[in-house]
Amino acid sequence: MRTHVLVLGAGYAGVMAANRLTRRDDVDVTLVNPRDHFVERIRLHQLAAGTHDAVQPFARVLAPRVRVVVGEATAIDVDARRVRLTGREELGYDYLVYAVGSRGSDGGVPGAREHALPVSTFDDATRLRRVLDDDPGAPVVVVGGGPTGLECAAELAERGRAVTLVPGHEVAPYFREPARRVALRRLARLGVTVLAGAHVVRVRADGAVLDDGAVLDDGAVVPGRTLWAAGFEPSGLARSSGLRTDAAGRLLTDETLTSLDSDRIVAAGDAAAPSGVPQRMSCQAALPLGMRAADTVLARIAGVTPAALDNPFAGQCVSLGRAGAVVQLASTQDVARRAHVGGAVAVWVKEAVCRSTVGSLAREARRPGSTWLPSSRARRRVLARTAAAAPAVTPAPGAAKVDA
Ligand SMILES: Cc1cc2nc3c(=O)[nH]c(=O)nc-3n(C[C@H](O)[C@H](O)[C@H](O)COP(=O)(O)OP(=O)(O)OC[C@H]3O[C@@H](n4cnc5c(N)ncnc54)[C@H](O)[C@@H]3O)c2cc1C
Repeated sequence: MRTHVLVLGAGYAGVMAANRLTRRDDVDVTLVNPRDHFVERIRLHQLAAGTHDAVQPFARVLAPRVRVVVGEATAIDVDARRVRLTGREELGYDYLVYAVGSRGSDGGVPGAREHALPVSTFDDATRLRRVLDDDPGAPVVVVGGGPTGLECAAELAERGRAVTLVPGHEVAPYFREPARRVALRRLARLGVTVLAGAHVVRVRADGAVLDDGAVLDDGAVVPGRTLWAAGFEPSGLARSSGLRTDAAGRLLTDETLTSLDSDRIVAAGDAAAPSGVPQRMSCQAALPLGMRAADTVLARIAGVTPAALDNPFAGQCVSLGRAGAVVQLASTQDVARRAHVGGAVAVWVKEAVCRSTVGSLAREARRPGSTWLPSSRARRRVLARTAAAAPAVTPAPGAAKVDA
């Protein structure tokens, strides 16, 4: 008997899962995605700045046996095991991999949605590039001091653009102080003006309005195009389909990535909240979660118990233009260590990491099941720490037992 697995979303998690599922000859895999190519989302700041096109053909990264349907899922009917797509088409499934990723969040800031330019999706970055190309001399205000904001600010400044960075909180909040100093030095060398401690409270057509900490004053407008890089939010599809999600909208799962509402649905990547304790939204997590999601489905088909999630982190690599980067090393539980790498070695590491993401998808497409899944028991420690710090977080039914 054949099994049909439907994968929603062809990002890092979805493509990895789809490829791995082709391990079994009796599994048919259909992948639904709005575009007929793979988007290297971690290079979207490069797409915006014109230093990379950030796409790969599916022929390079996807197993030939995976059937691609270009479209967007609009609703999941859990009881009927069917997914509705734009244009009223419907697809049935035996198992569903929910890997629809995330998009930019406006953080509730008035005017951000209307006047700011996000960089979080392929469409966002393409539009941003068009706007910037139309006005090569216009200054840019980058809102957000996290990795995406830093990468955008540096990439554009290196190409000669006047850039002001409004971090909102401290620059690179994940970093320890030594790595942060390296990042700030590089931004200064590129001529980026960093408005430390400043917050954007509104966006207007002529620029971003700052809160000086006391009185909001229209004189505090930073003129220029406002580029929004102040965080991601998950797709709303799970919630609007009546599936249980965390507060942000990620699909709530147990530690095997199985939805709390249906053992026929597994989630991976930015869209998943295992035990209500999601991993950092990152490509670093999306690839192994995609593998885990596929392994869970394959285990169920084989009639064996799926393994629990155990995904160690390594750090955070941030590019600062084409000639700069910082690698902040971290514990397997995703806590920054003192050690970091800068200079030419960091530039090399960052580019190698970007290439390796596409390389690992291509390898899994050619030889499904060949990608090694790292494991370090790090996840159990993260759950234990989260439970201790926030007693309100209740591990989901079926979640891995947490040893205090
Ligand atoms: C500029 C930038 C730089 C980044 N740099 C890094 C980095 O250096 N390191 C790192 O670890 N992370 C980085 N990230 C974050 C990283 O890109 C994401 O965390 C990662 O892409 C998540 O992978 P995913 O597979 O869950 O989702 P995505 O890669 O977002 O893929 C989701 C896919 O699902 C599709 N989709 C959405 N809705 C539907 C629907 N309803 N039906 C069908 N398909 C749908 C989307 O179009 C997309 O193709 C960066 C992000 C940005 C924007």
